Amino acid sequence: MTSRKRVAVIGGGITGLAAAYELTLQARQSNTRIEIELFEQAPDPGGKIITKKDDPYLVEGGPDCFIVEKPWAIQLVKELGLENELLNTSSGASGTFVFDNNALHRLPEGVMMMVPTKPLPFLASKLISWPGKIRMACDIFIPKRKETGDETLASFVRRRLGQEALDKMAEPLIGGIHAGNPENMSLLSTFPRFLEMEQDGGSLIVGMLKRQKKMVEMMKKRPATTGPKRTFFISLNEGLGRLVDELATVIGHEKIHCNRKVSQLKPTSDGGWLIEDENRASTMADALIITTETYAAAGMLKNELPRLADLLNEIPYVSSATISMAFPRQAIPHPLDAYGFIVPKIANRRIMAVTWSSIKWAHRAPQGMVLLRAFVGGAQRQELAACDDQAMLNLVKEELSSIMGITTAPEKSWIYRWPQGMPQYIMGHLDRLDAIEAITKQQKGLYLAGAGYRGIGIPDCINQGRQAAVKAWEELVGRVKGKV
Ligand SMILES: Cc1cc2nc3c(=O)[nH]c(=O)nc-3n(C[C@H](O)[C@H](O)[C@H](O)COP(=O)(O)OP(=O)(O)OC[C@H]3O[C@@H](n4cnc5c(N)ncnc54)[C@H](O)[C@@H]3O)c2cc1C
Repeated sequence: MTSRKRVAVIGGGITGLAAAYELTLQARQSNTRIEIELFEQAPDPGGKIITKKDDPYLVEGGPDCFIVEKPWAIQLVKELGLENELLNTSSGASGTFVFDNNALHRLPEGVMMMVPTKPLPFLASKLISWPGKIRMACDIFIPKRKETGDETLASFVRRRLGQEALDKMAEPLIGGIHAGNPENMSLLSTFPRFLEMEQDGGSLIVGMLKRQKKMVEMMKKRPATTGPKRTFFISLNEGLGRLVDELATVIGHEKIHCNRKVSQLKPTSDGGWLIEDENRASTMADALIITTETYAAAGMLKNELPRLADLLNEIPYVSSATISMAFPRQAIPHPLDAYGFIVPKIANRRIMAVTWSSIKWAHRAPQGMVLLRAFVGGAQRQELAACDDQAMLNLVKEELSSIMGITTAPEKSWIYRWPQGMPQYIMGHLDRLDAIEAITKQQKGLYLAGAGYRGIGIPDCINQGRQAAVKAWEELVGRVKGKV
């Protein structure tokens, strides 16, 4: 490059940090001087990732883990040299319970996502009625759908496995990941694999069994690795905040400008961008990577690119909250022999799920104490996420008393609210993304990435952030070469 270029990353969640990290790597590898500036409205980077060390407790306010099946998070952890700090889920417990008919029922062993793959534990379970079990088994004989387009999660599950499987498993398990409503969730944008399995295997159960077999064969063929075995979900000893801290160190704290809320973005005549913040301070950049919530991006772009802003505003978000509570072990009359429980909407309760955090993860609570974390709100009961602290604590205490028999008050509690924090991939999401991308492609130096687009999980966000950075980098290098 002949002149020093500047890339601005807007939003300091995991997507923005991953983008800034990738730019840092690209610059180092090609020995190119490039200015990277990250703007974050909050006092600290991390976005939805908040780890609170409240000695002797370690509390996660947002995400508490990532999946290893999608490689991008674990790969980043390794690149950052944090591999030795990876934390598997504890081996002392496993699985999850489902609250139904006023009791906690263990999700039968072998249920993968929502699909039963082991007949005996499934048949022995009291979670699904006999007619419900027979209906689920009919999946093997129901022909695959002829059309191949998108469908809601609810319509798909009803069609293949029946209403009871939707109510008691798919809605709280699969819908719960997005805190969403299965009646409007686009399956193609959230879990396209289910549609592929139906198309490949004729049935979901057969498709899942085939996939399992393929995975076993792949593992056999893979050369034996010496590394430790990883569980499906994984975290870090000191919580996910460790990942944020390490990324910020590699990027350089001086390049991360917190308490800077971007209010407007304007393309300039020389193909760059003018960035204005709410205090009217302005900065120039040659390329922009916007990683904020889509409605926030819309606010910044509405004056210059109104059609793009309209499309971004069409992606809905829902609000939720997490409430962590510390109890003495003897206050909990339950064996705590799983990682927690989920609550289907049909149970008509005021919590969506509870993770038994210190059972699931080591290093979260001192000996003799248990840390539990309840989820409130989501697409089905959004209004609850707006309750004041006392009302929120009371409703969670009432539910824990009724469901788990905990009658004492917690010794400590922590509340984190996520207003409009969870994007919803509703029907039409992929078409909307195509329309958004058609506009951004026409616009020099503009890249959008993050949870609102192509995957809400941490691995997907990291992947999107890094991909956007690579594209921005290639465009900048190309632009400079073009001038020479
Ligand atoms: C309660 C909860 C639990 C979750 N659990 C998990 C889990 O266990 N595993 C998992 O993989 N995923 C989980 N997720 C999802 C995952 O955490 C998020 O999808 C992901 O962290 C989003 O990252 P992001 O960088 O795309 O967005 P965010 O983290 O939302 O970052 C966007 C950033 O942009 C900033 N911003 C917004 N407007 C402006 C502006 N005008 N100027 C400057 N900055 C601005 C915001 O302050 C924010 O920091 C969970 C989410 C929630 C809410």
